[in-house]
Amino acid sequence: MAIVVLDLEWNGAFCKKIGGYFNEIIEIGAVRLNDALDIVDRFDAVIRPRVSRKLTHWVTDLTGYTDEQVRAGITFAEAMDRLHRFIGDEGATLLTWSTTDLTVFMENCRYYYDDERIPFVSRYLDLQAYAQQRMQLDKGQQVGLAKFAELLGMSSEALELHHAIDDSVLSAQILKHVYDTVSFRAAVRPTDDEFYRRIHFKPTFVRELDDPAVRQKDLQFRCEACGKRLRPVEPWQFRHRYFVAPLHCSCGKKYVGRVQIRRLFDGPEVKRRLIVKTEKSEQTEEV
Ligand SMILES: [Zn+2]
Repeated sequence: MAIVVLDLEWNGAFCKKIGGYFNEIIEIGAVRLNDALDIVDRFDAVIRPRVSRKLTHWVTDLTGYTDEQVRAGITFAEAMDRLHRFIGDEGATLLTWSTTDLTVFMENCRYYYDDERIPFVSRYLDLQAYAQQRMQLDKGQQVGLAKFAELLGMSSEALELHHAIDDSVLSAQILKHVYDTVSFRAAVRPTDDEFYRRIHFKPTFVRELDDPAVRQKDLQFRCEACGKRLRPVEPWQFRHRYFVAPLHCSCGKKYVGRVQIRRLFDGPEVKRRLIVKTEKSEQTEEV
């Protein structure tokens, strides 16, 4: 199956049909890789916008494209036909730098075809998440493409203007740097029903104590000094994304317990913290 690294440029526009903001794709760039991860073919299509004929200043500055240049482009449907031929009927493993390009692609498919599924794609990998995992970078901090290339000591001089084709080439080069067969295979996901449900899933904080996601054992702590079970001297309360309670031990030690429970697609994620309460913090710290 072909590995295709894809990148998009889009223009933000108010869309009457959907009664809201729409990210209209103005360029699709992609490269196809062989098993050695060399680029064997390139795809680039400038797309004539339909929703808004006017590019925002921000987009013009970023991409260097003018209204006239994109007006000379092809339609989204034509670009998709060409991309289909580029990828072939076998389907591809699609890679994008962060899921933003993926969701914008889905948004455009939904707009033009009433179906957000990206045709001729059967597997997907978020290259940004994968590359960050390979470099052992913190998940919370999302590193931009050019910045990441810099971290790897690669030159990204050609990227002064954001053009989708250049960004997909650079993404493919980064993949080659960080690639490892076992972890790559483990990170690639089939684009089945669950995949699309997962994309739309928004994590939420559990706020109610009687929520089934709250397990009693998550609210139980032991004294760091003597090991005895701590007892809440006030009921647990939800504040600022956490459940909080003052916890005392029969040995005299005082603590504050903080438990954060986040509902993720794969189930609840629990973060627990036990804070020792000193006399000083008792006066100043608001729990
Ligand atoms: Zn104790």
